[in-house]
Amino acid sequence: MSITPDTRVDLDRFWSTIEASGEIGKGRPGGLSRLTLGDADRDMRDLFRSWCEEAGLTVEVDAAGNIFGRRDGSDNDLPPILIGSHLDTQINGGRFDGIAGVLAGLEVIRCLNDAGHVTKRPIVVVDWTNEEGARFSPPMVASGCFVGKYDIDWVHDLIGDDGARFGDELERIGYNGERVCKAGEIDAYFELHIEQGPILDAEKRQVGIVTGGYPVRGMRASFKGQTSHTG
Ligand SMILES: [Zn+2]
Repeated sequence: MSITPDTRVDLDRFWSTIEASGEIGKGRPGGLSRLTLGDADRDMRDLFRSWCEEAGLTVEVDAAGNIFGRRDGSDNDLPPILIGSHLDTQINGGRFDGIAGVLAGLEVIRCLNDAGHVTKRPIVVVDWTNEEGARFSPPMVASGCFVGKYDIDWVHDLIGDDGARFGDELERIGYNGERVCKAGEIDAYFELHIEQGPILDAEKRQVGIVTGGYPVRGMRASFKGQTSHTG
């Protein structure tokens, strides 16, 4: 088997990979609560890492916990192609979202392996830490640090809603990596991700319609009066 323009990914394998991910950090029916750097995030990272290793990738973790699975090309001096997204979710979030983006990268690698195809450039599958920002605000801190927007010490000092420190949680779950959190040269970056904007619709592409959402409402109420038991 070789790679041709008609080569397709293995949908059954991709689906079963998504389903295996869907077993980790279950939230509401059909959804996940896999908050950044919690135990479920750790379990998913461990599984992703083992999948990467099984696919022959060289796995590295950086100081923000971003995971990189690299497949060598025929010319490894060339800047790599990155494919990735995030494996964390909101509280009662979806089980596709960024997860499909990371695991699609893995599926591409598996297909290349099946075909015995060596690409010219290296390909790197990435899981970005804390895309969601559901536990540690703001979102996208680790990819932000990677591109130089945030300092790593600032990222490590973030305090979550539960009072936990980002750097301590990274350490606790074993993902405070050795690699410096900094982008080198990159040829291209692909991210398959749910679009929440109008572009696909405006271009009359086939789209999946969301039939239910996760509503968030914050309220602060104050009551004025007089404390009194039955009066
Ligand atoms: Zn997402």
